[in-house]
Amino acid sequence: LVDSKIIADEKINKNLNIVRPTSFKEFIGQEQIKSSLKIAIDASKYRKEALEHTLLYGQPGLGKTTLALLISYEMNSKCRVASAPSIERPRDIVGLLLGLKEGEILFIDEIHRLNKLTEELLYSAMEDFRLDLTMGANRGARCRTINLPKFTLIGATTKLASISAPLRDRFGLCHKIEFYSNDELKQIIFNFSNLINLQLDSDACCSLAKISRGTPRIALRLLKRVRDYAQVMKKTNKISIEIIEKALDSQKIDNRGLDNVDRKFLSFLKLNNNNPIGLDSIAAGMGEESSMLEFVVEPYLIQIGFIMRTPRGRKLTSLGKKYISSNNEKY
Ligand code: ATP
Repeated sequence: LVDSKIIADEKINKNLNIVRPTSFKEFIGQEQIKSSLKIAIDASKYRKEALEHTLLYGQPGLGKTTLALLISYEMNSKCRVASAPSIERPRDIVGLLLGLKEGEILFIDEIHRLNKLTEELLYSAMEDFRLDLTMGANRGARCRTINLPKFTLIGATTKLASISAPLRDRFGLCHKIEFYSNDELKQIIFNFSNLINLQLDSDACCSLAKISRGTPRIALRLLKRVRDYAQVMKKTNKISIEIIEKALDSQKIDNRGLDNVDRKFLSFLKLNNNNPIGLDSIAAGMGEESSMLEFVVEPYLIQIGFIMRTPRGRKLTSLGKKYISSNNEKY
């Protein structure tokens, strides 16, 4: 359990090495979501009520946690941050709910991983701000109702379909975070490089943005690797396109942003004579987790037209085949 203040107090938390925007203005892109959230936030401030429960979904690294924290700053309320796998027993969620004060925010990451008992306790908590508890067992069992302060639950998930309908329906606001355009990523890279005292010109930002898979977390990670290379090998904070190319080459990342895992995935499909193959078989063959392949590797390979999903499994496209035939030797 992390109190949002720990993350929020500093723009750069050196221990966690996390950088997060601290206002909607600094949060680049997702304009439609920001404007609809701003209206909901202003309306609830006007009515002096807690914000409606909010569900954010989308691929990893697109900014769900960051948006949840931004909502709490805009609401001027404290945000308690928890991850669903850490809420194992009913008493965990009861403790969290009882610890909330009027108007505070509870953020649950990976909310699709909540267990059934916890989820059921949340139904009445979200709808009626009430906890219905059964105490004792057998004949001695007693029901007890505890009133809760009006709070806001913000849930984040990469798997909207895995959230049960009763839980999903209790969120008044629901937003899908989309992949970012190259221009938006360029701006994110530029802002972040200023924060960590790196000098990147527009071309350098652009070349990093192009290989960031539409994802801010990847953009920031690549920028940090480039910084390491520039500081160690060239003793400079000035990043040119040549330095970016060399740094990425040393990490075996090519000019499309593909790394060894992507190429292994494509080679595996090619080895199978381009017959469709199930994700679990690919994962077993590669020694990786299938959920990692599904959420981290595949979306981008599909987006750039290298693979396709068919009812019988994954298949290389002619573009993917051409790429892997000419690039596999190189790395
Ligand atoms: P996960 O699903 O893995 O929990 P997430 O969607 O919650 O990921 P975050 O942790 O919020 O993603 O964001 C990853 C990083 O990208 C953070 O350092 C965050 O500050 C940065 N980031 C994300 N979105 C933006 C944005 N729109 N503008 C600026 N920085 C962003």
